[in-house]
Amino acid sequence: MPRAFVTGASGQDGSYLVERLLDEGYDVHALALEGEGAASARVSTHVGDVADVERIRALLLDLDPHEVYNLAAVSSVARSWEEPDLTSRVNGLAAAALLESAFQVQERHGHAVRFVQASSAEIFGEPTVSPQDETTPIRPINPYGAAKAYAHLMVGVYRQRGVHAVSAILYNHESPRRPPHFVTRKITAGVAAILRGETDTITLGNLDARRDWGWAPDYVDAMVRAARAPRAADYVVATGEGRTVRDFVTAAFDYAGVTQWEQHIKVDPALVRPADVTDLTGDSSKARAELGWAPTLSFEDVVSRMVEGDRANS
Ligand code: GDP
Repeated sequence: MPRAFVTGASGQDGSYLVERLLDEGYDVHALALEGEGAASARVSTHVGDVADVERIRALLLDLDPHEVYNLAAVSSVARSWEEPDLTSRVNGLAAAALLESAFQVQERHGHAVRFVQASSAEIFGEPTVSPQDETTPIRPINPYGAAKAYAHLMVGVYRQRGVHAVSAILYNHESPRRPPHFVTRKITAGVAAILRGETDTITLGNLDARRDWGWAPDYVDAMVRAARAPRAADYVVATGEGRTVRDFVTAAFDYAGVTQWEQHIKVDPALVRPADVTDLTGDSSKARAELGWAPTLSFEDVVSRMVEGDRANS
């Protein structure tokens, strides 16, 4: 039975990934922080912190996995400004340690370990080209992006060293499991609360920020495909379509049948970020050509599934 090790298993992507690997018959081992709970009863959950590098190394050498997915991260840019040192350890250093552990598993057990790093479009910072691809210069502008950039570079280093190491450069990807501090979920939860009469307004920051928003399970699919591809590489995973926060708001209210949405939106300058990437759109031609990957849901479908999810959560 193939064995997989997943960090960040209780997050949005981790939960979809674990479900998929279990369906495929994998023996799934998940790393979760104390109190996060198991992603599923069928998973072997190991309580621990990915930044506890000695312990994780011993665990990996013992488990001897065939696939390692590193999804654990301080996942918000805003939090990375509040805790830049923690972000460096979790998003950067821990990835380097996991790569070295994967290398040591290969040396000790004599089989390939396929390693996928969940990287981020934030490594490109404020890019001067749009859309971005795998050749776009890495110039992060926040602690989150800088730590992810270090991990991305270490993937390249360990690929040279003989590990099937993949960096999946993921653009924003959403689902009903997205935590509510992300703007998409904040909007869909807000629309559902307005429909229930619990509130009248949603307070947001920059409505003109543009993101390439995809469907999280599709991004998990890209990571699995890259893990199992004949050759390891970096892949941009994106839809290629940029939409503004305002577009997201419009689509969410449209789906809910509310036409006069302007009265429900307030802008609070305090929510506008000091340094914000205002346009991130990815060119995923390489993933489409080499991995046979393609997004399965349109922007409108992602929005409607999220509104539906929040309407069902009363
Ligand atoms: P990020 O791209 O990983 O930082 O994902 P977010 O969903 O947190 O933010 C996406 C964009 O939405 C950023 O450019 C934010 O500045 C913008 N935005 C506008 N209003 C809000 C808000 O109220 N909350 C959040 N989180 N982002 C907002």
